[in-house]
Amino acid sequence: MKSVLVAGGAGYIGSHAVHQLVERGYEVAVVDNLKTGRLAAVHPKSIFYEGDLRNRNFLTQVFSRHRFDAVIHFAASSVVGESMKMPLEYFDNNVYGTQVLLEVMRDAEVKKIVFSSTAATYGEPEKVPITEDMPTNPTNAYGETKLAMEKMMKWADVAYGLKYVALRYFNVAGARNGGDLGEAHEPETHLIPLVLKVALGKTPAITVFGRDYPTPDGTCIRDYIHVEDLIDAHVLALEYLNSSGTSNTFNLGSSQGFSVEEILSAARKVTGHSIPAQLGPRRAGDPARLIAGSEKAQKVLGWKPSRTSIERIISDAWRWHSRHPDGYTASI
Ligand code: UDP
Repeated sequence: MKSVLVAGGAGYIGSHAVHQLVERGYEVAVVDNLKTGRLAAVHPKSIFYEGDLRNRNFLTQVFSRHRFDAVIHFAASSVVGESMKMPLEYFDNNVYGTQVLLEVMRDAEVKKIVFSSTAATYGEPEKVPITEDMPTNPTNAYGETKLAMEKMMKWADVAYGLKYVALRYFNVAGARNGGDLGEAHEPETHLIPLVLKVALGKTPAITVFGRDYPTPDGTCIRDYIHVEDLIDAHVLALEYLNSSGTSNTFNLGSSQGFSVEEILSAARKVTGHSIPAQLGPRRAGDPARLIAGSEKAQKVLGWKPSRTSIERIISDAWRWHSRHPDGYTASI
């Protein structure tokens, strides 16, 4: 398999995928509307098309210029809080955008897709670790759109033989080794980049969202997965589909949990900064513990996450943030 379309290839996770694919010898085309993605993050050896998945004419033109073997689909709105305020916009961008993409794929006879899904499809889990056979009950509109996108693919497989791999991410963090590619959301809502902004002196303190959870130190526990390990799984998923793998769903996490307090102390160690913290109220909809069972991806795809130490994840993120305190700027 050589030619791949990466939808959303200018975003945090998509841009890491494009870099790895180009390095592994794939021909990569990128589609991104640059609403949240950054052109500076797009690998110069990929072919870039600026446009929106919901624009069928635009997408049909892109497909007419290439013979794609597969698509990797990252293009979606992904801020949980925002999805609760504007659910219809989330359904429009995420679900309708995916519908148009699948229609154009069907018409162009491109039959393989690797899809960026989320642990938010599970909602509040009955137990941890969370395995792929557990019930899906999203507690926010973002997770619901991702579940709807997965279901659309399931029925497109039944009707048109479109094979998909849905990868349900836990907490993606870290950055590429060189420090020139990383996480730059605006506004930022994720814990690790926010903690590092405090270390950079850009904000005075981190607010810990609740210390009264039923966990050893009272703060929420999450499963942090290095973005480069995450992308390894996407490449393996492409290879799996290419060797006639059937449609499938996999969790991607490190299968280990760290509390907010543990992230703070690891970040203090990595950065050498005191990183002041203040207590705030719980954030609505935050489950106490989310930890992935990722054995299925390891067994079926042969995935082996290797950057699982939390210090490694934070220090790679720190290299990026300290070199690029203002994210991507015109000079990068
Ligand atoms: N969190 C926090 N303060 C912040 C941002 C996040 O205490 O400023 C907590 C949040 O409540 C959750 C964990 O950090 O328990 C990870 O949150 P994040 O938004 O990074 O990812 P999520 O788990 O929501 O996908």
